[in-house]
Amino acid sequence: MLPLKRIAVISVHGCPMAVLGTKSAGGMNVYIRALAQGLCRLGFAVDIFTRCHDSDEPPVYSLEEHCRVIHLEAGPADAAKEDLFGYCPSFLEGVKAFAAREGLQYDLLHTHYWLSGWVGQALAQEWDIPHVVTFHTLAEIKTRALAGEGEATPRSDTERQVAAGADRVIVSTAHERSALHELYGALEDKVRVVPGGVDLELFHPGETQAARERLGLNGHQTILYVGRLDAIKGVDVLLHSLAQVETGKQVQLLVVGGNEEDGEYQRLKGLAQELGLAEVVAFLGSKEHEALPAYYQAADVCVVPSYYESFGLVALESMACGTPVVASRVPGLQTIVRDNRSGYLVPWHCPDAFADRLEVLLSNEALRRCIGQEARRTAMRMGWDGTAQGVAAVYRELGVRG
Ligand code: UDP
Repeated sequence: MLPLKRIAVISVHGCPMAVLGTKSAGGMNVYIRALAQGLCRLGFAVDIFTRCHDSDEPPVYSLEEHCRVIHLEAGPADAAKEDLFGYCPSFLEGVKAFAAREGLQYDLLHTHYWLSGWVGQALAQEWDIPHVVTFHTLAEIKTRALAGEGEATPRSDTERQVAAGADRVIVSTAHERSALHELYGALEDKVRVVPGGVDLELFHPGETQAARERLGLNGHQTILYVGRLDAIKGVDVLLHSLAQVETGKQVQLLVVGGNEEDGEYQRLKGLAQELGLAEVVAFLGSKEHEALPAYYQAADVCVVPSYYESFGLVALESMACGTPVVASRVPGLQTIVRDNRSGYLVPWHCPDAFADRLEVLLSNEALRRCIGQEARRTAMRMGWDGTAQGVAAVYRELGVRG
């Protein structure tokens, strides 16, 4: 039997084992883990190199056969995300030392986010192997989406250099492919679109009432938000919309994500209070990924009001559970939700429009069921195996076969 092709995945700040829904752990962490496991099912051996962010984590952790997470020390465990670029050279040395110690030769590098792209650029040269990068989000799009919130780091320049130097760039949507070309001058013929996916075994429909009982919820109509609490997520818009919703019934909003130490968590709690919503909004903090299906099943509708989403896993997870989504009309979400069919897409800056769609859905159970069924059908075509196959096809173009 031929030896397995070895993929070195670099994810400086996105550990697949991090607590999700907190400040900087979310979709990318889920993506990296699910993709690595999907690639292993296709016959690759995958090592995910990430920064040690918690001294209790084992240095090497096996996710499953041929799939390991390797924690490398590079800067203090609790270093702020803004400082991580400064620790990338030491991370790079850590990857090289680990590979040398274990006598490993990798066949391909797949890096995630600009910090890892920088590390991958240097490693690809040193090891003379192909480099595939997935940025997940791009500084230039993010800055344009949230006017005035530029990033005071060398991020854009690094993204430009990495896009120019990598052998392939994987994006989730055609919009990002165009943006890479227009904003970064990336050659379109090296950019490949491979959409993300959803774990269809974990996320599936379930009885609403039973889910509510399991979670100890009351019988009020339930709107759900799931995700990191970050200005880019537009939770303000959701709170302002909720203040306008009138259905004649009692409605509650569950906010899953964030934690009490976050400034944004406290700010949003304060805003809910200001808007007179203290009694109807429950800030639940972040929840284990495996606990989320019950929340989606318990909800009448899930809202994703982001200013920018490179893809939008939460929308897809909700749809896989048959729960209709009201999402902002931004490119990532537009590729997942079909307006009026599998959910609603509304102009992102407009609480009136969100409130309107919420009222329509909350007051019509048959419509919710119908949209929820269509949403589930869409999600069924988007399991992680499809993503892994798409990524493996990109590796194949570079001569690396599973
Ligand atoms: N998530 C979670 N627990 C939480 C909050 C979020 O497991 O408390 C997961 C959620 O299920 C989803 C991911 O974090 O898989 C968020 O991904 P998304 O693409 O929606 O947003 P991102 O974090 O990439 O901006």
